[in-house]
Amino acid sequence: MTRTTARDDGTGAEEVRRRVRALLDAHDPSGGDPLDFLRARFDAGLAWVHFPEGLGGLGAPRALQAVVDAELAAAGAPDNDPRRIGIGLGMAAPTILRYGTEAQKARFLRPLWTGEEVWCQLFSEPGAGSDLAGLRTRAVREGGGSGEGDGGGGGGGDWIVDGQKVWTSSAHNARWAILIARTDPDVPKHQGITYFVCDMTDPGVEVRPLRQITGEAEFNEVFLTGVRIPDAHRLGAVGDGWRVAQATLMNERVAIGGMVTPREGGMIGPVAATWRARPELRTSELHDRLLGLWVEAEVARLGAERVRQQLAVGAPGPEGSGLKLTFARLNQRISGLEVELLGEDGLRYGDWTMVRPESVDFYGRDAGYRYLRAKGNSIEGGTSEILRNIVAERVLGLPSEPRTDKDVAWKDLPR
Ligand SMILES: Cc1cc2nc3c(=O)[nH]c(=O)nc-3n(C[C@H](O)[C@H](O)[C@H](O)COP(=O)(O)OP(=O)(O)OC[C@H]3O[C@@H](n4cnc5c(N)ncnc54)[C@H](O)[C@@H]3O)c2cc1C
Repeated sequence: MTRTTARDDGTGAEEVRRRVRALLDAHDPSGGDPLDFLRARFDAGLAWVHFPEGLGGLGAPRALQAVVDAELAAAGAPDNDPRRIGIGLGMAAPTILRYGTEAQKARFLRPLWTGEEVWCQLFSEPGAGSDLAGLRTRAVREGGGSGEGDGGGGGGGDWIVDGQKVWTSSAHNARWAILIARTDPDVPKHQGITYFVCDMTDPGVEVRPLRQITGEAEFNEVFLTGVRIPDAHRLGAVGDGWRVAQATLMNERVAIGGMVTPREGGMIGPVAATWRARPELRTSELHDRLLGLWVEAEVARLGAERVRQQLAVGAPGPEGSGLKLTFARLNQRISGLEVELLGEDGLRYGDWTMVRPESVDFYGRDAGYRYLRAKGNSIEGGTSEILRNIVAERVLGLPSEPRTDKDVAWKDLPR
């Protein structure tokens, strides 16, 4: 962002406010098509202000996004429903920004941000969850060549992808997927992986619902049979997919664990509200536990704020893993306490009808749903055990887990 005004305090906040006012003057936030407003907001650089100009941003400090969001919320402007498009916003977008070609950024970022195109993440496989680098889904370049090693896609030709993915949240709504596949079985497992953008409307993509403990089918199995991906949809260099995936995973942990919420805006909110509204449920033991969890939730909330401030000056580091770990533990303990507090009411579960939700919404639901869905928090986006390993090795500097497969070609690994 280059221009500032005389009243600017030096942070650029006043200039950002001026741009918000100009957007609101030109586009009525309450009347008209919400999508038109969102497109105009993106084009005005007010979608994610830290992105470059022309890609929904102003090249401004990330902290200024809070100014934009507050002004637009006060004006009653429509938002892009970040919960529904969380994988696109939290995982695909930062990866495309960092590793995508200019053509990829121009093609994908705008409809991703407005929510016109939903994204999913085709990473996990049967047998390759925590050990993601062991994945089997293979991508073979048509004609057999391995292709050039440098830079993002665009070298021409297609890749043919075959394999199976699992636990793919939102695949049933998704237009695009971020996908990692093995392109070279002859090198150690971390080296032979390449990162692609997969078109979920390709005839070779089959999405089958998987019902989870809540009764809902929020995620899916995805079978890939002869899926044709143009080289122009490769993200990063051939064989460099593990490094690109690391950027996605670091962002995923911050996206899951690092949401900035107001006090009592998280899982503790509904429990505290029940406590206040229904004195007949209280015992002194529950009181002590609720207070303890309330304090921990507040510490976690402030920790998320701290990580958000760190992010304003750089990419997410391993600290995001600690945050996601805390979030998962707390959500499970708080939702457990809520069920106990409610007694028999807590055991009732509304409806087991199979539904295919567009997003995960903890708050508009009953305690039973929160309790069951929170179980997935310690698995999705990296299990708590793996996150403890990351914190131990990369934050605390403790010795690494022994890794005997580091120098063995993937095809020679025992299975
Ligand atoms: C609700 C939900 C949504 C999901 N959404 C997606 C999605 O959209 N896209 C996607 O690609 N994936 C998704 N996943 C998959 C998720 O990322 C994997 O389930 C997860 O990475 C764990 O892999 P796994 O299930 O194969 O378990 P495993 O890797 O088999 O692990 C089993 C247990 O062993 C432990 N373990 C394994 N290795 C070690 C080790 N080295 N040290 C210590 N403990 C270890 C694990 O922590 C775990 O407790 C989702 C999962 C859930 C539950």
